[in-house]
Amino acid sequence: MSAEIIDGKKISADIRQEVAADVRKMQEEHGLTPGLAVVLVGEDPASQVYVSNKEKACKEVGFNSFKYELSAETSEEELLAMVDELNGRDDVHGILVQLPLPDQIDAEKVLLRIDPDKDVDGFHPMNVGRLAVGAPVFVSCTPAGVVELLKRSGTELEGANAVIVGRSNIVGKPVALLLLDENCTVTICHSRTRDLAAVCREADVLVAAVGVPEMVKGDWIKEGAAIIDVGINRTDDGLVGDVEYDAASEKAAAITPVPGGVGPMTIAMLMKNTLKAAELTL
Ligand code: NDP
Repeated sequence: MSAEIIDGKKISADIRQEVAADVRKMQEEHGLTPGLAVVLVGEDPASQVYVSNKEKACKEVGFNSFKYELSAETSEEELLAMVDELNGRDDVHGILVQLPLPDQIDAEKVLLRIDPDKDVDGFHPMNVGRLAVGAPVFVSCTPAGVVELLKRSGTELEGANAVIVGRSNIVGKPVALLLLDENCTVTICHSRTRDLAAVCREADVLVAAVGVPEMVKGDWIKEGAAIIDVGINRTDDGLVGDVEYDAASEKAAAITPVPGGVGPMTIAMLMKNTLKAAELTL
């Protein structure tokens, strides 16, 4: 058996088109254009690429995009004042402060200052709490993208055994909560899990978010499973995921490639969250 490839590029393009259609409708019916403010502090090259990709995606779906590039010497008070100003603006529906921040700024303090109703990154404890009690508003973009890929590839989630390898706050834990909400039976694994291979072999849905190249082996995969590989690892052979792709494809029913799987979904889900933030103000 060779697995169906879950095409994150195509699915994320579909989502961006749907968002663009909803933006046109919102403009016609309510005269409202969603706005996303992105704040970048310093000159980290990777962050600059992420921010310009976000700006491009905003333009493509018809959002107003506001980009603020602050110097690496910006003080915590200055950044907090900027967040306060953005919190108060009617034309800004979503606020994203690009991480990492320079050492003189406490990132936790900044994230806490963002109005939870404009927290389109879903990192504010209020939004994490809303997800934990089963009433999500803004779910962080990568975990939301994982679940969207599963749903749009037609994976049966109701009652499925879902195994998540990785328990980080930004991926593993929120993915587990979302899959619980979808009525999966959820197991979360981490570096102290005993016999990880045996746990993975029970998975109808397997999500790998570890950050170790090809750690999840082909013979850990249950026949017919759906595999979502969140891992992005730079190796001499280029980018690889956390799953041994070729061997896993022989057993799985569906699998995401790396790159071209989860990666493109993150910005698409950011666009969805920003649209939702604008809808909340109607
Ligand atoms: P973290 O390093 O924060 O977490 C890794 C998790 O994997 C931890 O819970 C750790 O366990 C667990 N782990 C590490 N080694 C093992 C092992 N040998 N066996 C079992 N579990 C293990 O990583 P992130 O969650 O931030 O990211 C994971 C991967 O996803 C990375 O490759 C990252 O680049 C990628 N990523 C991709 C994104 C995208 O596509 N847009 C966005 C975010 C991340 P323990 O808690 O016990 O230490």
